Parts: sequence; structure tokens; C-alpha cells
Amino acid sequence: MSNEETAVPRLVAIDRRQLILRTVDVEKLVEQEHCVRSIWELVGRLDLRLYYAQIAAVEGSAGREHTDPQLLISLWLYAYSRGISSARELARQCEYEPGCQWLCGLQAISHRTLSGFRSDNKTALDDLFTQVLGMLSAEGLITLERVTLDGTKIKANAGGNTFRGREKIAAHLAAAREQVRVLNQPAEDEEQLAKRQGAAKRRAARQRASRLEAALREVERLQREKVHARKIFVARASSTDPEAHVMRNGEGGTVPSYNVQLVTDTQHGLVVNVEATTDAIDYRQLDPALERCEQKLGRAPRQIVADGDYTNHASVQAAATHGVDFYGSWQESWKPTAGDAQGRSGAFLSSAFPYDATQDVFRCPAGETLRHRAVLNRGHGVRTRVYRAPKEACRTCALREQCAPLGARPAWRRSVTRIEEPSATTAFKAKMQTEEARQIYAQRSRVAEFAHAWIKERCGLRQFRCRGRLKATMEATWACLTYNLMRWFSLRRALQAQPAAIG
Ligand code: SF4
Repeated sequence: MSNEETAVPRLVAIDRRQLILRTVDVEKLVEQEHCVRSIWELVGRLDLRLYYAQIAAVEGSAGREHTDPQLLISLWLYAYSRGISSARELARQCEYEPGCQWLCGLQAISHRTLSGFRSDNKTALDDLFTQVLGMLSAEGLITLERVTLDGTKIKANAGGNTFRGREKIAAHLAAAREQVRVLNQPAEDEEQLAKRQGAAKRRAARQRASRLEAALREVERLQREKVHARKIFVARASSTDPEAHVMRNGEGGTVPSYNVQLVTDTQHGLVVNVEATTDAIDYRQLDPALERCEQKLGRAPRQIVADGDYTNHASVQAAATHGVDFYGSWQESWKPTAGDAQGRSGAFLSSAFPYDATQDVFRCPAGETLRHRAVLNRGHGVRTRVYRAPKEACRTCALREQCAPLGARPAWRRSVTRIEEPSATTAFKAKMQTEEARQIYAQRSRVAEFAHAWIKERCGLRQFRCRGRLKATMEATWACLTYNLMRWFSLRRALQAQPAAIG
């Protein structure tokens, strides 16, 4: 046997039990063009006084140092840009991910600090969002000339099986209050560790009791506000997130969610306003969205584009009141039918009665005149005008069998109605017939749905981590702020690349 056949190759040994001290140049953890540097630099230009004002530990006084808000803001923006919405995951990544390590200077950050900061100061976060919009506006990237409004359902941090009726919530609440009472009596000889655990248990019990109190209030509100079928309606609310409502999502299922409304500037697809709402339908959302724009941006947009779910008399009126040019898709609730609910057809349908505008009367198939008798106010400037035939004519009419409903009393007489729209609706409908309006409306889906897809897919906002509408709005604001910044960076890159491409 030759030497070559018996020789064992010599390999580098792997020793995983050793401890190694390494030199790390933190500054070189990320390259110069890394987006984390742009985030840090941009956050450094913002006025963070509202965050600093909250810090109790100040120079010359006792107390633990606070983590710098510039760092926490940058960390969250960087996290959302990488699809991380979990505070625990972000804390983990601070231990090994170069971008996070560079931001933290290799210091560890607790997930409690991160999650507390994200949902702690809404006023400061709103101010941050507005400051960024101001910068974008100063660069001409936001003009508010034309915006889109659209809603997207985002799953709440509550399971479908947490929804309960009033009695069950009240029973759980009584048990939770009792638990709080018992936990509030700690034993005197408690060890230090046990004291901390006891405090954590008491905090958790108090939070549970407070969520159940909110759920009870929500159930009572829903029951009170129910208009139709109130006697058989049983209101239910989630015991973990009382403000979340069961909504139909894009996949056709129903899950506890919030309806997040985004107002997006069409020029560069930047989000100018965001709000999580508890209303499952978009029907009533246009007016509040315009009010928020006026309040937070100082003025309403010149034009607003929204889909058929928003297009109704109330929205048209609201847009007119705010002085905003509204573009939508009007869906007529009335559709021509061969027969009505009373079994009438052909010339006996109300819609077949000819209307004489000069005399403001209808004529029936027997040639009788139906005169205006009453006006019903339907709200938002819509009025229903009621016209009735003479009682005697209907009583003796030869065509009565085809005209009257089955079992009509002898005193019955035919009436028809005519809807009188407000002038704003008439003008809106006429405008939407024009080619220019159709082209403006056609922009809607591209602009609005891109932002929705981005915050869900790229920011990882498929489900809220926090509970309650306010905190859900804050989470959505963080995601939209990240979206705006990433879009801004990419617009800048495109702008810088232009001369080179031309050259
Ligand atoms: S029943 Fe009255 S409304 Fe109907 S066709 Fe006769 S007269 Fe006209």
C-alpha cells in the first residue's frame, strides 16, 4: 500500500467552545450608501423636542439615562423598511444585524423600550409625520393638487374567538377585578425577585380588567346605537381588543380588523394622512378624511379621487362644503326591473309613469293626473317628492287590478315618488360623464393600492402588534412614515441618476 493511499488529510479544526475577543470597527459595519445612514441623518434633521420633553432624567439630577429618541425613531424606521414590525424581533436583530448594530453602536436595546416608544407619544409621532411632509412639500414632491382616498383592512391583534356578549364580559370583568384585589395584597416577606414578578402580575391583571371594562362599554354602545332589529340583536365585542370590529378582508374571510384610511398625493404616491377606523365600510369616510387633512396639513387638497364605496350624496356634499373637487364612481341604487315587489309590470311600474316637468305632475295609464302632495327629507339635501292620484279615480278605475297591490283597501290610491337631488350631486354626475374626469378617476387604483401593498408587504403590516384604535393608527403612521422616506430616497436616487443617464 502506498503512502498516498493511507495518508489522512490535515484539516483546520473547528473549536466552538472558545471565546474570542474581536475588534469591530462600528463605522465600517455598513457601507457609506447604506439606507440606515440616510435614515439616521434625516431623523437628525428633525425637531424632536416633543420627544425630549418627555424625558424625566436631565443633566444634574438623579435618574437613569434615557435611550436617545433619535436612535429609537431611526431603529423603527429601519425595521419597518425591512418588514420588521415586532419589537422582540427588532431587539434580537440589534444583536447581530449590521444596520441595527451601527445605529445602536453595538449596545443592546430591550424590546420593552422599543415597543413602549412606538406607541407612547402620538402627538410627537404626528408632529414627526408632519415635519417629513413639510420637507417633501418644500422639495415640491407633495402638492396636494390631487389626492386619492382609499381604505384597507388590517387584522387587529385579537382572535375571532375573543368576541363575547354583555353577560360573559361582565362575568369575566368581575373575575378580573377580584384577581386585581387579591394581587394588590402582597405578602410582607416577599423576596426581591418575587416582588418584581408580583408587580408584573398585578400590572397584567389591571390591564386585563381595563380591557374588559372597555369591552363592556363597547358592547353597550353597539347595543344602544343599533337602529334596526334592536330586540333580536346581540352586541359582541372582543375581550382583548374591544375597539376591533369583525370585517370582511380581501380574501373573502371575516376577521377582527381596523379599516385603515390612506390619503395619498398622486404626484409621487406619497401618503399625506393615515388613520385607523373602526368602521367596516368606507361610505362615511370622505368627510372625516378631508377634515383631518385640513387640521393636520393646514389645507384641504384641491381634488380628491375615491372609489364607488365613498361615492354618495353625503361625500359629494362634504367635498363641496370643503371646497374640494371630488372624482368618484357613482353607483345607481335603482336598476330597471321587469316587475316590482307589488307584482306590477309594464306601463304600471312607477318608473313607466311619464313625468310632466312643466306642471310637476305624473300621468297614469288611465290618463289620470298624479299631483304633488308631500316632501320627505332624506338628509344631505336629498328630498323625495310624493305624487298621488285622486282617490275617487283609483276606486272606480277599470285598470285598478293591474295597478293596485293584492288586497288593497277600497280607499287605496296610487302614489309615485321622485327623488330630488341636491345641485352638487347633479353637477358631480354631469362632471363624471366627461372624458377628463374619467381619466382623473383612472389614476385612483394605481396610486392608492400601491401604498396599501407597500405597507403590508414591505413594512410587514399585515396584522397590528398593538391593541386599540389609537395604537393601531400609530403603527400605521410608522409604516406610512417609512414608506414616505423610502420613496423619497428612491426619488432622490432617480433624480441624481438622471444627468448621468443623459450624459
Ligand atoms: S288605479 Fe289609479 S293610478 Fe292606477 S291606472 Fe287607475 S286611476 Fe290610474
